[in-house]
Amino acid sequence: MACVEKHDEHWSYNDPNQWPKFFLAASGLSQSPIDIPTADTVFQSYPPFIFSEKYHSNELFKLVNNGHQVAATLADHTYGQSEKDLWFTGGGIKGVFYFVNFHLHWGKNDRHGSEHEIDGHRYPAEAHVVFKNHETGQIAVFAFLFTVTNHWYEENLEWEKYCDAAGQLMNIDDTIQCMFNLSRLMQANERRFFRYIGSLTTPPCSEGVIWTIFTNTVPVKEESLNQLRQNVMRKVYRPVQPLNNRVVFISN
Ligand SMILES: [Zn+2]
Repeated sequence: MACVEKHDEHWSYNDPNQWPKFFLAASGLSQSPIDIPTADTVFQSYPPFIFSEKYHSNELFKLVNNGHQVAATLADHTYGQSEKDLWFTGGGIKGVFYFVNFHLHWGKNDRHGSEHEIDGHRYPAEAHVVFKNHETGQIAVFAFLFTVTNHWYEENLEWEKYCDAAGQLMNIDDTIQCMFNLSRLMQANERRFFRYIGSLTTPPCSEGVIWTIFTNTVPVKEESLNQLRQNVMRKVYRPVQPLNNRVVFISN
């Protein structure tokens, strides 16, 4: 995931093993993403997530090609909308977390593209919705793994919209505005998820990030991902990092 970044930071997805030279945290012992070993996960009961009212309504977002990915933030506040209106609490995480951005990671073809893997299995893309606790500065990320569907009626329309819009942003700093509904992008409630503590998956790769990775996959058409691969960037994901004895929980 990326919290805040600029394209003039000197890193790229061509050489992620070079990141620790410039970003110390990237060589830490609690890095993300990871390959989740399902046989070793620990069952845990979590209270439900509680989302703010605006989480369920259409809001205007601004998509930016920042040179590493296409991140969507809430558009300018002239509409009377504010990140303060998009928050969640619960889900076993202490405090109130406010929306920061959402974005997608993808690969050159369907064989790879996700950041997290499950039992060594890679997915063609992975969405991140990033939230931040303004009191503690802690980051929590919701992650969704994608599968490719050949049936148009199965495709998640909200993510199709993201791919259509992001696919137009061919150059760095290109932007476009678009309405999105976070609850349709996330569909987070009553779904099982993995939980572990890791890091940002982009420099500076800071640790202490609370990850929630849903087991249900999001179906998209290959054409949607092709728009990103062909028009924007060919691959935007960090390879998996060592688990180093961390426990991965799975919700009951
Ligand atoms: Zn990400």
